Amino acid sequence: MRAALLRVSLAGCEYPAYDGDMTLAHIADNPPSQGWDLHCHTVFSDGRQTPADMVREACALGLHGVAITDHDTTAGWNDAATAATEYGLHLVRGTEVTADADGVSVHMLAYQYDPHNREISGLFAKLRRARLERTKRMVELISKDYPITWDDVLAQIREGDETTVGRPHIADALIAAGAYPDRSAAFNGAVGSRSPYYIPTPSPDAAVKQAGGVSVIAHAGDPSRNAVLLSDDQIGQLIDAGLDGLEVWHRGNPPQQRRRLLDIASRHHLLVTGGSDWHGQGGKPNRLGENLTDDETVRSIVERGAIPLI
Ligand code: AMP
Ligand code: FE
Ligand code: FE
Ligand code: ZN
Repeated sequence: MRAALLRVSLAGCEYPAYDGDMTLAHIADNPPSQGWDLHCHTVFSDGRQTPADMVREACALGLHGVAITDHDTTAGWNDAATAATEYGLHLVRGTEVTADADGVSVHMLAYQYDPHNREISGLFAKLRRARLERTKRMVELISKDYPITWDDVLAQIREGDETTVGRPHIADALIAAGAYPDRSAAFNGAVGSRSPYYIPTPSPDAAVKQAGGVSVIAHAGDPSRNAVLLSDDQIGQLIDAGLDGLEVWHRGNPPQQRRRLLDIASRHHLLVTGGSDWHGQGGKPNRLGENLTDDETVRSIVERGAIPLI
């Protein structure tokens, strides 16, 4: 796998070659200033831009590589791979899986798993169907008080059946109806988790491990997502179940939580990753490449995974 990580430098997208002899498994206390953005969403879930836009922008920023991690789907992988090959940028293939640990919502970043594994493709199909039903139910409730219909929400979905539908699409319909200026305002209002219209996403167990993937808890210390964060014990249970890493470098994790997560990672020899949670222009304020993962960590992810790096 090492050869695959050696950079092929193409015009318009150059940066220093990856040093294949760097030592593994050290845990840095500070976020990397260069490397890979391992957390990005596109129009195949709730992002506002295409996989090709993502690759083009990552290339322009001089990132070493980028990961596509749409919610509960692999639908954007092919487009991303085509663009990555065209631009000569490395691509990690992944998915942000919606899960649950004793009532605490967990977003699991799953990397480099076999997309044909029946367990995982079945899980995603089930999750997307359940998400669709839940989103429809939320729209039924919201439409009693706001001028939107389910068709207005469908009009916001870019890739039809291939898009994983969620609250951001309701937010987009509300923006189109003039109820809110942007997604953040909608999330502070009718679509937020504290609103009377809120219905949680359904959450089956992750099948990432069975599909040979590498699993990382996304933004585990972000207090804005859950009233209660995952406890050390809950993280410990996920580690026992085969968790590979923690996403420490994410704008939602405050400094104290970063220290806590780094401490857990070093005690349990977990990978430490970073990612922007980019959702494109107008999707979220998060900027592509604002948080990064270093080369060695990506090498470990690729070595542990079931499919090659692109
Ligand atoms: P859902 O999965 O349908 O419950 O919707 C949650 C998704 O909404 C998350 O994955 C975020 O990407 C997105 N989201 C959460 N807060 C905001 C916000 N303030 N602005 C835009 N998108 C948000
Ligand atoms: Fe999202
Ligand atoms: Fe997330
Ligand atoms: Zn995300």
